[in-house]
Amino acid sequence: MKILIANLGSTSFKYRLFDMTDEQVLARGGVERIGSPQSKCFVEADGSREEMTIAAKDHAVAVKLCLQQLTDKRRLASPKELAAIGFKAVHAKGITGVHRVDEKVLAAMEAFNDIVPAHNPPYVKAMRLLAKELPDIPLVAAFETGFHETIPPSEKHYAIPLEWAEKHGIKRWGFHGASHRYISERATKWLGNPEAKIISCHLGGSSSLCAIKAGKSQATSMGMTPQSGLPQNNRVGDFDPFALPALIRATGKTLDELLAILANQSGLEGLSGKSNDLRDVEQAALNGDVKARLALDVYIASVRHYLGAYLVLLGGADAIVFTGGIGENSSTMRAAICKDLTWFGIDLAADKNKSAKGETRIDGPTSRVQVWIMPTNEELIVARQSRDCLAFSLAS
Ligand code: ADP
Repeated sequence: MKILIANLGSTSFKYRLFDMTDEQVLARGGVERIGSPQSKCFVEADGSREEMTIAAKDHAVAVKLCLQQLTDKRRLASPKELAAIGFKAVHAKGITGVHRVDEKVLAAMEAFNDIVPAHNPPYVKAMRLLAKELPDIPLVAAFETGFHETIPPSEKHYAIPLEWAEKHGIKRWGFHGASHRYISERATKWLGNPEAKIISCHLGGSSSLCAIKAGKSQATSMGMTPQSGLPQNNRVGDFDPFALPALIRATGKTLDELLAILANQSGLEGLSGKSNDLRDVEQAALNGDVKARLALDVYIASVRHYLGAYLVLLGGADAIVFTGGIGENSSTMRAAICKDLTWFGIDLAADKNKSAKGETRIDGPTSRVQVWIMPTNEELIVARQSRDCLAFSLAS
């Protein structure tokens, strides 16, 4: 069974093609600058990369081009061989878990366009087009919120009138579900303990922590929307809603304008005034830039805040795992996050932390808690979920 896992942007489509008999990636590729007469279509397989420039007017044309390219390269016998296209979908009103994409799912995603503005509008638009233009290929949406269904009520609820949660779904849904699920499964396997207590730190363009026990999410730092929790590259993270009326009065901006700034010009970018890329912020801080240093310190403090909370929640941890672009690559951020935690049984090995590459342990001999770096594999999780969803819909 071959499944294509799609990653959509407003003008891009990227994919990985999985053969689910052995879960191998047969090819990866995509199309950039969709809508331009000079779209770039590329495919990578067997260590080689091919590119062509061609007009792809929309996402459906882009997907058709990619399927043809995969057929030409003999990764698919024909486009019909594709069992499904799976999507790492973010959030939909009243829906979580894994679903075949139909009008009900699309309408539920559309209902949250305004609270997940970077993801839902391009996904809904592309999914509608694909459903129309490629009606024979099942589309599957695996929602990021699904992994967090096991969070108990004490960690799920905001202290607001209960009716808002019950009637309108205003609660901590949590995101990065595919990544935290992958880390949970992988770390549990390495620890050899199905009951293991794991704190998964997905630190990247967007970041969240997740407390996991026996493979189940117990709490996570993002809440009703992916704008909350830790500061993100350009999104605010946790913020007091009562600051908004003060800001409306002080700046003369509308609520929508302020929300757009909180969603697009805040986080590392807003505080540093430099960049939304951690590498640039780290470099500026090294050069003595005070705002860049502050942005790093706020980010580190927020990660440590949730780390502490989850150590208490779980009653200690068997492993802390770093993943995501920052978690996997920034030894200085890992060192700052784990600084002076000996009392909690957490000791990094400075040399291992500095030289670490790929999946590896970085704790020292005195550490009671294992500390790992694990490159995440969200696409593999979505491919497995898509396969299981198809099997379920065939059986029922
Ligand atoms: P996304 O959440 O968009 O998938 P990633 O997980 O790829 O993003 O993470 C992107 C972040 O990772 C950026 O802030 C980038 O600066 C950071 N990053 C990538 N490589 C490094 C590195 N070598 N050192 C420090 N930060 C890095």
